[in-house]
Amino acid sequence: MKFPKFLFLLALPILLSCKNTKPATPTGYQGQGPTPIVSTRTKPVQRQWRGVWAFQDSTVFFSNTFDGARLNGVAHDGGDQYTLWITAENTPINPSPWYGFQVWSSIPRELKLRFTYDGSRSRYYPKISRDGIYFKGLDSTRYRIINPGEGDFGIKAAPEEIEITVAVDAQPTWITAQELYTSAAVKTWVDSLSQYPFISNYDIGKSREGRPMNLMEVNGGHSKKALMIISRQHPPEVTGFLAMKSFMETLSGDSPQAKAFREEFTIFNVPLMNPDGVDNGHWRHNLGGIDLNRDWQEFNQPETRAVRDFLKQKSEEGYEFVFGADFHSTWDDIYYPIDTLVTGDKGKIVFDWIKGITDRLPQKKTNISTTDKITPTMVSRNHFYVNYGMPAIVFELGDNTPRDFLREKGRVAAEELMRLLMK
Ligand SMILES: [Zn+2]
Repeated sequence: MKFPKFLFLLALPILLSCKNTKPATPTGYQGQGPTPIVSTRTKPVQRQWRGVWAFQDSTVFFSNTFDGARLNGVAHDGGDQYTLWITAENTPINPSPWYGFQVWSSIPRELKLRFTYDGSRSRYYPKISRDGIYFKGLDSTRYRIINPGEGDFGIKAAPEEIEITVAVDAQPTWITAQELYTSAAVKTWVDSLSQYPFISNYDIGKSREGRPMNLMEVNGGHSKKALMIISRQHPPEVTGFLAMKSFMETLSGDSPQAKAFREEFTIFNVPLMNPDGVDNGHWRHNLGGIDLNRDWQEFNQPETRAVRDFLKQKSEEGYEFVFGADFHSTWDDIYYPIDTLVTGDKGKIVFDWIKGITDRLPQKKTNISTTDKITPTMVSRNHFYVNYGMPAIVFELGDNTPRDFLREKGRVAAEELMRLLMK
């Protein structure tokens, strides 16, 4: 493989920083173990070089010059074959190699693209778009596993290396790890819902790179019983966001149930907890190089501090938080509630809710992994419960869960929650 010279300059710090990397912990759908205690003090991140790569007498081009892009190097292997180099913002990091780039060719041709991830695995099945808005999965006949790697369970079932074939022409083709939902796209969605008189949105802080931490408030009756809903602390976890989006749209909808619910409950929603990570195409961390969902004890990062301060302020204003949810994505659908040994009767609603969703969606079994370790808080769910007594859950959706099912699950989850809270 031949990389342009400047890429070696970029590569050096990454290669050095990888020396101390422990093997990443696999996330099986049987559930994660207890969260290890880690420092969340800011660490440096490797910013990706942004630009356009030109090959074959400037007829073939690759670009990472858009929000959500990630492409760290391109090598022309000869003919119409290329190797793509995709690296993380810093290490150690989970195996969630986000990528996103545009490719085009002034002469129509078929390119073969190999993906390499600096030791990680090919977790995300490629999504293709011609306009950067509508994405669909690559045709399976154009997807080839080069190196399956070791293991066949959970994240280990993902191949180490893949090659895809794409037909390109002068119009750019987007190739991304999941559908592209940048901070701008999320804001467009929030603004469209905010057309309703009972929905508003406002900023509760700024990210490390100065992006707004935007909060949507659904408030039909000025009730001080409140829900706190967040998502996308981890940038590639688009499926969790999509389920949350459907969940919020159902709570904001026209049904008699939703109308009655909004008279009794106020919903606070931060749909994009890590806007810098999303727009910079990060695998997991914020621009402080930190997994935000380990920072709910120390609060070293501005994104978690914004929500902490918001909750404190609302609590001082007399709001009582009755439910909290944090939407994520992982290998498969899974629920992470807190054991009722800890939460008592108050926490039962979470389990009744899970049962209600499962009874209505029997076609997909969702595993439950209960925890009784809630301090140090570190993760959002534990902060919500320990500081505000909120029955709370981490709601995980699979990377490959069909998108129509994600929408249905988000809708059913909202309907079941409204039913239980209105009882
Ligand atoms: Zn996550």
